[in-house]
Amino acid sequence: MSEFLPSAEDMLSGPDAHGFFGPYGGTFVPETVVPALRELEEAFETAKADTGFAAELGVLLRDYTGRPTPLYRADRLARAAGLGAVFLKREDLNHTGAHKINNTLGQCLLAKRMGKGRVIAETGAGQHGVATATAAALMGLECAVFMGVEDIRRQSLNVYRMRLLGSEVVPVDEGSGTLADAVTAALRHWVERVNDTFYAIGSAIGPHPYPAIVREFQSVIGTETIAQLAEKGERADAVVACVGGGSNAIGMFHPFLRDVPASERPLLLGAEAAGLGLDSGKHGASIAKGEPGVTHGFYSYLLQDEAGNPVEAYSISAGLDYPGVGPEHAYLHDEGLVRYEAVTDAEALAAFEQLCVTEGIIPAIESAHALALLPRLAEELGPSGRVVVNVSGRGDKDIDIVREAGLGA
Ligand SMILES: *Cc1c(COP(=O)(O)O)cnc(C)c1O
Repeated sequence: MSEFLPSAEDMLSGPDAHGFFGPYGGTFVPETVVPALRELEEAFETAKADTGFAAELGVLLRDYTGRPTPLYRADRLARAAGLGAVFLKREDLNHTGAHKINNTLGQCLLAKRMGKGRVIAETGAGQHGVATATAAALMGLECAVFMGVEDIRRQSLNVYRMRLLGSEVVPVDEGSGTLADAVTAALRHWVERVNDTFYAIGSAIGPHPYPAIVREFQSVIGTETIAQLAEKGERADAVVACVGGGSNAIGMFHPFLRDVPASERPLLLGAEAAGLGLDSGKHGASIAKGEPGVTHGFYSYLLQDEAGNPVEAYSISAGLDYPGVGPEHAYLHDEGLVRYEAVTDAEALAAFEQLCVTEGIIPAIESAHALALLPRLAEELGPSGRVVVNVSGRGDKDIDIVREAGLGA
C-alpha cells in the first residue's frame, strides 16, 4: 500500500495529522487560536504516553467516580422487549449521574498538567457544566461556565449546583440563548484568555484535537464493556448508544472498532433525536437530515437551512438537541461502520417508562433514545438477540419533563 494512503486500521484510530476523519473534522478556527490548539495537542500526546497520567486518572475514575460501572443483565427488560438478553452499561451510576465526568476529570487533569489555573466550559442543560464544576472543585481550578440565558431560565437547578460547587455561570445573551450560542461564546472567550485558561469541551466536537481528546477519555466505557462481556462469557449482537454531540457513543464504539476484528464485531447502532418527527422540522437528527458544513471549528453533518445557515435543533432531551454531530460519527456513518437511526420524543418516552417499570431504573431521556431501539432490534435479531445499551445517565434531572408529558399518571 502506498505510504500516502492511510490503511483502514489507521483511519479507525484516526484522526489524521490534520485532524480529519475522512473529509470530516479539521481545525476551522481564527488564526489566533491555532497556537493554543497546537499546545493542547502536544500536551495531550505527552499525557497519553505518560503512565503517571493514566495512573492518576485511573485512581480518580475508581475512587472518586466509582468505576468500573456495572454491566447489568436486565432480564425483565429483555423479556418485555422480546430479546434474548439486554445488558445495560450503567454510566448513570457515575458520580454526578452521567458519563460526562469521565471527560471532565481527564480534561481538568490535562489543564493542571499544562499549568492552567482556570477552566471554562459551555453547557446546554447544565450537565457538562456541573461535571466541569465538579472536576474543577476537586482539582482546585477556577471555573467559569458559559450558558445561554434561555437555558439558565430552564435549568435553574443545575445553575445553582454549579454555583454551589464554586463556579461562575456566565450568561450568554446571543442568538437563541441556548447551547450553540454558549459554545460560540466560550470559544471566543478562550481566544482572549488562552494564556491561563483551558477550554474543557463537553462532547466529541470542536476543532482538532478535541474530538480525539474526548474520545480518549470516554473510551473507558467501551473498554470496560468488552472486558465485562468476556468475564461473563457473553457476546453481543448489537451495541447501542444515543448520539447528541456523540461523546458517550464514541466512547462505547471506539474500543469495539479498534480492538474487535470486523468479523466478530457486533452491530454498532447510534440513536439520534427525531424529536417531533423527521419531517416536522423539529428534531436533532443531524446525520439523517443534515448536510456537511462547518460549525464550532469543525466540518461535519449539520442541520442547516437552504441558505446553509445553521438551524436550531429540537429534542425533548436537552442533551441531544445539538444541531451538529462529532466528525468521527459522520465518517463512521459514511463508511458504514456504524448505523444511525432516529428516535422520536414519543418513542423515547415509552422506552423511559418501560425501563422504570421493568427494572426499577430511571434513565436520562437521552439514554431512553438508545433504549427505544430495542423493539426494532428484536424484530431484526429475533428472540435470541443479545444487545448492550449504554445508559449514559440517570433521569433525576428529567422528572419534571416526563411528568409534564404525562408519564406515571
Ligand atoms: C450530555 C448527555 C448526552 C449527550 O451527549 P453525547 O456527547 O452525545 O454523549 C447523553 N446522555 C446524557 C445523560 C447526557 O448528559
